Amino acid sequence: MIILKLGGSVITKKEATEPTADYENLDRIAKEIGESSCQKLIIIHGAGSYGHPFAKKYGIGDTSENREDLQRKKRGFCIIQDSVKTLNRIVCEHLRKYGILAVSLQPSSFIITRNTRIYYGNLNLIKKYLYLRFVPVLYGDVVLDLEESIKMAVLSGDQITRYLGEHLKPEKVILGSDVNGIYTKNPKKYPDAQLIDHVSSLDDLEFIEGATTADVTGGMGGKLLELIKLADLGIESEILNAAKPDLIKRALQGERIGTVIKVKEKKIKG
Ligand code: ADP
Repeated sequence: MIILKLGGSVITKKEATEPTADYENLDRIAKEIGESSCQKLIIIHGAGSYGHPFAKKYGIGDTSENREDLQRKKRGFCIIQDSVKTLNRIVCEHLRKYGILAVSLQPSSFIITRNTRIYYGNLNLIKKYLYLRFVPVLYGDVVLDLEESIKMAVLSGDQITRYLGEHLKPEKVILGSDVNGIYTKNPKKYPDAQLIDHVSSLDDLEFIEGATTADVTGGMGGKLLELIKLADLGIESEILNAAKPDLIKRALQGERIGTVIKVKEKKIKG
């Protein structure tokens, strides 16, 4: 089984102020997934411009100071839940076009967090869909949070990827982003940034930064933290550039592309 995460930076125009899908990338990636003939697959996608601008505007995840704050946040919650669902419908439509049996699973309907980390998620349904050879499609969403002062949280596709990776033990976790992998520093800001082959800790980077865009879920730093946790459990992942044709297909067919996140091999003395 493979878990494939498609970044919001690839399937949407992430810097757009209005929710805008990148139909060209979506269509090509859906075609590549179809052509890869990968039999057992879970797809998770980011929210990009369908989620982050709203999440920031409504302060989901912030503590609510008073009743008005809370009402505003709740309204934002409903708006975001609807917006990311719209993106998910577009993604699933493209997948079905290329013969993929995409079934949509809305994270806010079966996952709950505590202090913004997943506390509970019913995975039996996902297992059953996989068993029947459906392709479950999940996505970054807003969810209820058990912490009384938070109540609602933004759940990133990256955290879902880590959670499902930990519990379902896939052979491979692939993350498609809009850069070739992990660099020593942000390649979009620093032309001298160097692509790293393997990462096993945040120390492998010259410096890590969180959000580069309107991303409220932590940018590359947040992503890497989730993947390092997964690597510690023995599950390797790789980050590649899904904006480049054919890479998703090749990775699904077993090729290693981009940066691999895995634990450092221990040197045995003597
Ligand atoms: P996605 O939406 O694909 O999940 P994000 O937009 O959250 O991904 O994160 C990818 C972005 O992180 C890249 O476009 C890049 O600008 C930025 N970034 C910051 N630091 C790094 C780094 N060290 N290596 C690679 N990308 C980085």
